[in-house]
Amino acid sequence: MSVRVENLHKRFVVAAESPPAVNGVSFAAPTGGITSLLGPSGSGKTTVLRLIAGLERPDSGVVCLNDQECTRVPVQRRGVGFVFQGYALFQHLNVRRNVAFGLKVQRLAKGEIATRVDELLELVQLKDLGERFPEELSGGQRQRVAFARALATRPKVLLLDEPFGALDSRVRVELRHWLHELHSKMPVTTILVTHDQEEAFELSERVVIMQGGKVEQVGSPHDIYDRPATAFVASFIGNANAVRAQADDGRQATAYVRPHEVKIVKADASTSEVSVATVVTMQRVGGYVKIEVRLATAERMTVQLPRAEADALGLREGDRVMVDLGDAKVFVGDYSI
Ligand code: ADP
Ligand code: MG
Repeated sequence: MSVRVENLHKRFVVAAESPPAVNGVSFAAPTGGITSLLGPSGSGKTTVLRLIAGLERPDSGVVCLNDQECTRVPVQRRGVGFVFQGYALFQHLNVRRNVAFGLKVQRLAKGEIATRVDELLELVQLKDLGERFPEELSGGQRQRVAFARALATRPKVLLLDEPFGALDSRVRVELRHWLHELHSKMPVTTILVTHDQEEAFELSERVVIMQGGKVEQVGSPHDIYDRPATAFVASFIGNANAVRAQADDGRQATAYVRPHEVKIVKADASTSEVSVATVVTMQRVGGYVKIEVRLATAERMTVQLPRAEADALGLREGDRVMVDLGDAKVFVGDYSI
């Protein structure tokens, strides 16, 4: 079942002047795929997810599930399953009963519930932990129970709101691979809200970039990385540097370039002063070196080089270098970020 939203608007009236949380959002999430909503905190991702679920009503706009409009259909009748950031398991119920919860509400026969719970625990690799209580599980295990519970009623759409957000980074990466496998075994149409670029890029075939309640770009991870549509996307993806530039027509513009895409060579006596930059600081971070340079315009820029490359250049703080912005993305307008 595909998900499509058209021109969604939602304003929470907190103060008279409060800006809309969601301001004209449209996109489609294809059947059986994972679509990510990626954006900084406060960009409206959770609100869009809640509008799709039916937990909020839009001020205007349309939600369609499988080409059927369901903007006014109550949450219980939309056939969606959720997993949120906090595990929100029932603390007084063991794992089996947590997973069985939605099935009991649907009044399935006992034997059928038991069989389904067995299948789900197998699917989320918690077969032997059915009798444990949530407090006896690790964070990653609890979140897998939450997935099993969300999938129990065989939802047609799975909505995930920062499902790994509360976990430490190693467990996040493990669960990311786990979710990828789970989804290939059970390809439910999924919408994943995240602020983690790697998570969005690794897991989904379509990424919706949000900022300030609006969609900045919709595309494949490659599209978004290689061809950012707006200055915001160019700056946000890959934590790009922003430096003043001039557009072809002479207008003021900003060039965005990612730290690992900047090339550096040592300057020599013949280098003209306007193109000389100075190495301000160098810091080794694991396998690469983070170099801060000051351009002739006094703007600062972060450059990231593999350690071997930095060693080969023999760079020191205070060195004069030339930087090549390579494949910088240029957008008309002053720094927008
Ligand atoms: P994100 O998930 O991208 O961090 P949200 O959708 O949670 O963003 O929030 C978008 C904006 O709407 C924020 O400014 C937030 O403060 C506001 N907002 C979200 N939910 C509510 C609510 N229930 N009442 C008032 N304001 C809200
Ligand atoms: Mg959120």
